[in-house]
Amino acid sequence: MSNIRTVEAFPTPMQKMGFLYDWLVTMKCNYDCSYCGTDHPDGTIGGHDNRMAHPPKETCLKMLENGFEYVDAYMENKKPTMRSVTLNIYGGEALYHPDIEEMMEQTSVLYSKYKDRFSLVRNLTTNATATQERWENISEHLEQITFSWHSQGPDKLKKNFLLNLDITHKAKKRYDLIILMYPGRWAECVTMLKYLQNRGYNARPRILDGPEGVYTEEQLRDMSEMWPGDEELVQNIKDSRIDTKGRACCGGRSMCTDRDYKNPKKYIPRDNFLGWQCSANQFFLMANCQSKNFYTNKDCHVRHDGTRGPIATLDTIAEYVSGLKHTLSNNSNHFLKCVQKQCVCGTCAPKSMDKEVLMNIMKIYNKQT
Ligand code: SF4
Ligand code: SF4
Repeated sequence: MSNIRTVEAFPTPMQKMGFLYDWLVTMKCNYDCSYCGTDHPDGTIGGHDNRMAHPPKETCLKMLENGFEYVDAYMENKKPTMRSVTLNIYGGEALYHPDIEEMMEQTSVLYSKYKDRFSLVRNLTTNATATQERWENISEHLEQITFSWHSQGPDKLKKNFLLNLDITHKAKKRYDLIILMYPGRWAECVTMLKYLQNRGYNARPRILDGPEGVYTEEQLRDMSEMWPGDEELVQNIKDSRIDTKGRACCGGRSMCTDRDYKNPKKYIPRDNFLGWQCSANQFFLMANCQSKNFYTNKDCHVRHDGTRGPIATLDTIAEYVSGLKHTLSNNSNHFLKCVQKQCVCGTCAPKSMDKEVLMNIMKIYNKQT
């Protein structure tokens, strides 16, 4: 077991850790990837579920509106230079929602109330398989796109991915390009990654979580060559599920352990932080419009009362935010105590076994009162 005591995102001016607000607008998807499961009985939210109907747009927009109020409560606490929010629009496949264009237009309207309080980047995480006309319409309402390439998609739709990627690349819009490295289709994934990199696209590999994320040593060596800085990856996780051995940041961010800023890492050799003090609540919110629940984030379901589950529902969020504002006005060191057996998304949020250390780290982000 690793003996690290503190983990945080590598804090640089170029890589400041903003707030990530995940807005899940549907569980439906036009792909059906095997590594992307449905909701699990333990409360884990799945990747897609094509048996579910799309949530009504009114529900999605009300969730968005309430979530902005929650985010604003934490922004009030931050230094002015740290008041930046990414709204991640995703699913399932968000583009598959029939009202997505209208909903995207409404994001501008709902954000207008906060535009002098925090900056907003709207990011669509997508398999990018819309027609080119629809793609261009949607892109008008986005500042950034995360393209996810999935080897298991139908060939016809994968062609749309390449056409839409090229539109975005040529338009010089900000984007992230992730190739999901599926062990069962390794050669195809490596070929696609190299093809995109050789064509000048800024592509990177992404390892899979879950039961299908088991890699051979050779595959991990391929990956560390394509994504330098991961030497520990090969030694620690060959032939076992990566999510049981440690964690890389989903956003590709570098992290530091024990405040050692000279040696940033892409991989943290630890998969749980039980009992640690964690600031994930100050950096994440997830609105699940399908279930009408709000969570700390899509994988972290830790609550302040030491249990796991949604922090609020669509019916209770207004009251929750009112209580949160009151708490933060008295104490900016409002942290979670981790009670979750595995940390997935949320690993990069500053956390420590020692609350004093975490309070010191948070001076990077929060106003001092
Ligand atoms: S494209 Fe993404 S959301 Fe859709 S099935 Fe594949 S992994 Fe899941
Ligand atoms: S599971 Fe949640 S509370 Fe626990 S360490 Fe990860 S982000 Fe923090």
